[in-house]
Amino acid sequence: MKMWIDGQWVDSVSGGVMPVTNPATQEVLDTVPAGTPEDAARAVAAARAAYPAWRRVSAVERAHMLHAAAAKMRDRFDDLARLLTLEEGKPLPENEEEIDWSLNTIDYYAELGRHVRGRVPPSPGEGQLSLVLKEPYGVAGCIVPWNYPILLLVWKIAPALAAGNTVVINPASLTPLTTLRMVEWAFDHFPPGVVNVVTGSGSAVGDTLVRHPDVPVIAFTGSTAVGQHIARATAGQMKHLHLELGGKDPFVIADDAPLDAAVEALAYAALINTGQVCTSTERVYVPRAMLPQFSEALAERVARLRLGPGIEPTTDVGPMIGAADRAKVIEHIADAVSKGARVLTGGQIPDVEKGFFLEPAVLVGVDHTMRIMREETFGPTIPLMAYDTFDEAIALANDTEYGLGACLYSHDARKVRRFYEEVQAGTIWINDPLTDNYAGPFGGMKMSGIGRELGIEGLEAFWQTKHVHWDIEGGVKEWWYPY
Ligand code: NAP
Ligand code: MG
Repeated sequence: MKMWIDGQWVDSVSGGVMPVTNPATQEVLDTVPAGTPEDAARAVAAARAAYPAWRRVSAVERAHMLHAAAAKMRDRFDDLARLLTLEEGKPLPENEEEIDWSLNTIDYYAELGRHVRGRVPPSPGEGQLSLVLKEPYGVAGCIVPWNYPILLLVWKIAPALAAGNTVVINPASLTPLTTLRMVEWAFDHFPPGVVNVVTGSGSAVGDTLVRHPDVPVIAFTGSTAVGQHIARATAGQMKHLHLELGGKDPFVIADDAPLDAAVEALAYAALINTGQVCTSTERVYVPRAMLPQFSEALAERVARLRLGPGIEPTTDVGPMIGAADRAKVIEHIADAVSKGARVLTGGQIPDVEKGFFLEPAVLVGVDHTMRIMREETFGPTIPLMAYDTFDEAIALANDTEYGLGACLYSHDARKVRRFYEEVQAGTIWINDPLTDNYAGPFGGMKMSGIGRELGIEGLEAFWQTKHVHWDIEGGVKEWWYPY
């Protein structure tokens, strides 16, 4: 495929291309231009040129265009979900969910963008008007990872466009195809330069967006390491940064939790997208008395999950995205075992010729000295640790540098309240892990990031604030000179 700059399908100025492969079969699906800093700068120039006119398009017209984009995605729903399955790997139903969430997010911001553009506070004096105006920034640079390439992108471009910004997108190197098709099929009616996609590595294209003086706002989802790099690289420019970074989400099972439902909830929370979710459950705390029965039921449940290519209807768990990612998970398991943990099921590479598959693992006997309980594993692992009191469970949940999400299973209102008051995480899920809400903000505390996506907060992320003070009569004031 080609990339989309200034309303044209173009190659890189370098002429280079890079392959996109299917992680289930390791077959090359297609190639995309290997964009360079020059290509990124070309797209920024187009977005900057398109901005003054786009900013003046009425909010209702922008809403119509966003609704039209959502409708066109609905028309190509199956094609988008299938292509996403081929390049990203997770099972088709998870990709259908991703496309569904994405187009609903576009509809949500289409309406939100025309709802308000500021507020009118009381003025300090008679005959005056105070206006708080929300204005777009200009060009928004949007950089996303491969695990939810469409959803995480739409969380950025839908509010950015609704707020009146133009956008330059750098998709992840591993998953640019569905993004290009989405723009081709659903965003072709936007004026040239309003939406641009520059494929190519983050270190070439993303980094150029990050440093470019004409890109005043960067919306990034990815690792904490790259987030820190972006913060350092932009410190001198006072850029507005929205950084959605890594996590090490805890799941606390309370002593009143119904065993069967908690086991099902946990398997889903930890293994959806093969555990490659920023808010994936990465560590679990179970009451000591419950642990033997709970771990046995969980291991039995996890062992029954069917591994396979995401495109097969019989698949529950797809491949991981790549060999290095899988090797890291195996290292985390080996480190835990070397320190005394026990693997109840999984953790092995299955006997298949192709694809980055790994059997989902359940571990017991883990503690916080192990990498699997401290570092982001980003794979199909469920380490279970025993706790004695609910105080201890909360302390363990908070014993991390991250603060993205946290889950609890309980019907005890006192425990629920303590959990959401005391656990430091941007999202708290009670009894329904990982369900997002367009109207509810999403993002991280601590090292998990800065800023929020979704909700009104997600729109405000793409607005800057201006205060207008207007004395309508304009007479001479008694507090002016002379004193
Ligand atoms: P990553 O390595 O940080 O990559 C994310 C994106 O940044 C990719 O598009 C990447 O390009 C690009 N990039 C790399 N270096 C860059 C640079 N110097 N300047 C600008 N952009 C650059 O993350 P990942 O390992 O692919 O993704 C998994 C991580 O994302 C995990 O830590 C996960 O927790 C996090 N995540 C967070 C959220 C959230 O909402 N908080 C959601 C999903 C994932 P290339 O593709 O070319 O490397
Ligand atoms: Mg990476």
